[in-house]
This record gives sequence, structure tokens and C-alpha cells, in this order.
Amino acid sequence: MCRVCLKRPEIPDERYGRCEQCAKSGRVAFRLRLGPGRGGGYAVKAGELSPHALRQKWRVPLEGFKGKPTVKQHLGLHEVELVTAKERLESVRIAPDLGGHEEAVTAALRDAAERSDSSW
Ligand SMILES: [Zn+2]
Repeated sequence: MCRVCLKRPEIPDERYGRCEQCAKSGRVAFRLRLGPGRGGGYAVKAGELSPHALRQKWRVPLEGFKGKPTVKQHLGLHEVELVTAKERLESVRIAPDLGGHEEAVTAALRDAAERSDSSW
């Protein structure tokens, strides 16, 4: 199954596990895992994107993100996905256990995009 649209079959061995349509439109889903934050709330603990890449490409789109993260059943405990289309942040998907904590999740992602660490 395509990791982006979760609807169509993926192209075998495609780098981002996408179907043909999502690959053509430049959509990618990047998965991150949250854990408890230092001052309460959440912090990013692992991700398919390095802190550097997140900062470089997604800091500004995350700042401007007005949408509400949506709960998706395919995500495991504390997992979050950034669904992107070329330069744009399309949506944020969150695991069922993060439902009800949308603001804390968005805050954790914005904090993560400010980090200059080389790894999570
Ligand atoms: Zn797709």
C-alpha cells in the first residue's frame, strides 16, 4: 500500500513507498516518533528526516501550518507523519494515542525544526 495516500498499491522498491500518482505529484510521507518532552508535552525522538533536514526544509512550512493534525489508525504508538507535496506541508497525521493532543504535537514538531543537533 502507498505510504502517502494509503489507497493505491505502491511501486515495488520505490524510495518512499509510493504509488505512481503520489510519486508523480512529488508527495512524500516522513515518519517521526515522539516521546516525552523535557518540560512536559512531547519531543521528537526519532525520524526518517534528520534534524538538519527538518530544519532546512520544513521549519518555515511548519511555522505557517494552520491545519489540525488528523488521527490515523496505521500509525504506531507516538508516531507522526508529515505529508508533503514538493515544497508544501499538506497535512500532519498522528497516531491514535496522540489524539486530543494536537497542539502539543504541533508544538513538538516546531521545536524539533529549531534543533541544530546532528541526530535525534
Ligand atoms: Zn499514493
